[in-house]
Amino acid sequence: MKRLDVAIAGCGPAGLAAALFLDRIGCRVSLFDQFEAPQPVGSGLLLQPTGLIVLDALGLRDRIKTLGQPISRLLGHSAPRGRIALDVRFGNLPDKAQALAVHRSALFNVLFDAVSAHEIDITTGARLEKVDTHGDGRPTLVTETGRRHGPFDLLIDATGARSSIRASTSAEPKITPLKYGALWATVDWDPNGPFQPDVLAQRYQRASRMVGVLPVGRRSEGGEPVATFFWSLKAQDYDAWRNRGLDAWREDVAAIWPDCAPLVEQVTDPDQLTLARYAHFTLKQPILPRIAFVGDSAHATSPQLGQGANMALLDAMALARALEHSASIEQSLQDYAAARRRHVRLYQAMSSVFTPVFQSDSYILPLLRDWFSAPMTRVPGVPRLLAEIVAGRLIDPLAAMPDAP
Ligand SMILES: Cc1cc2nc3c(=O)[nH]c(=O)nc-3n(C[C@H](O)[C@H](O)[C@H](O)COP(=O)(O)OP(=O)(O)OC[C@H]3O[C@@H](n4cnc5c(N)ncnc54)[C@H](O)[C@@H]3O)c2cc1C
Repeated sequence: MKRLDVAIAGCGPAGLAAALFLDRIGCRVSLFDQFEAPQPVGSGLLLQPTGLIVLDALGLRDRIKTLGQPISRLLGHSAPRGRIALDVRFGNLPDKAQALAVHRSALFNVLFDAVSAHEIDITTGARLEKVDTHGDGRPTLVTETGRRHGPFDLLIDATGARSSIRASTSAEPKITPLKYGALWATVDWDPNGPFQPDVLAQRYQRASRMVGVLPVGRRSEGGEPVATFFWSLKAQDYDAWRNRGLDAWREDVAAIWPDCAPLVEQVTDPDQLTLARYAHFTLKQPILPRIAFVGDSAHATSPQLGQGANMALLDAMALARALEHSASIEQSLQDYAAARRRHVRLYQAMSSVFTPVFQSDSYILPLLRDWFSAPMTRVPGVPRLLAEIVAGRLIDPLAAMPDAP
């Protein structure tokens, strides 16, 4: 193929990783984002072994490892009885692969610094409204102020779950907003506190309340270690939560998990907590002529399984490999869609099944969870299966990629 002019909309994990891969294979890449100054969006997150393989392929694994916090176990207890409701140990993986919890800034900076080092063109302050494919069929990006960028040989939409670019095309799916979201805040990490540094710890009251503590390492080199604190909340209850005040909320948290007192005391203003709203959809085909959808723009769900950013990184790698190994843009888009189909569908389906077990109004599901979680971990094969699911490797996402061995 001739040297392609590629527009990438969105500088989240999907867009930045796609920019680096495509620059490497000789595309002329133009990145766009709405932010005025480069900055990350969102809470701390868990990079699974799958996502770390992608960062390794980009030569960024060593740096992200110096910033992040290795996680060896996901451990959840139900309140008030303290029964085990979730227990996943990465040590049960045959290769002992670990997950790495990172602050969003750490992941963003590692990717963005690499983009800057490669002098990839970036336009900030571009709030994109739609894509226009009139004329010769090549996509042109249009901002909310009517400014046009393009046309390009290929557009990669990485603007996330609420993409207005996708909404302006025939790819727009039926989106199911999820009742439950979560409040999150970054809090200081006390190495002498009651939480283990290598454990994502959660407490649940049925499935309607959930507290989570994820140690995420440092925002940047030389910074102090921090953690992400999560509190499950129905999106519709957000205003009521604010009106009740922080003291009432701190009592709610203490009733479920008194150890969290030093963390919630750090929250002195409700604006320190950000509400994340979740939605679920999977595009039937993450492609249109000359357009690829990657990351949350192609498939979004609740983060219970901790896969979204990892799948975004995998999408970016699969698309770049398809472009590198196909003779035409059309064929590479087909190859990209085929490479990601099974893995994305499997994990989206599992997320639909598991999410209500931890976030819903159900009485029965959390009861079953609390009865069966501990005994199940003693059934031969189950601990490894659970670890493979969370690691993102229930089926190997790399095996379907165009140049897989
Ligand atoms: C509370 C929470 C916890 C999570 N935990 C995990 C986890 O542990 N592990 C995991 O793998 N995933 C997790 N996720 C999911 C993960 O955050 C997403 O899957 C991931 O960020 C998707 O990356 P993306 O690049 O596709 O989109 P995004 O990260 O959403 O990035 C989109 C980018 O596009 C830009 N943009 C958006 N609209 C426009 C526009 N109109 N014009 C221009 N620019 C635009 C935004 O500014 C942003 O830079 C979590 C999500 C939440 C909310």
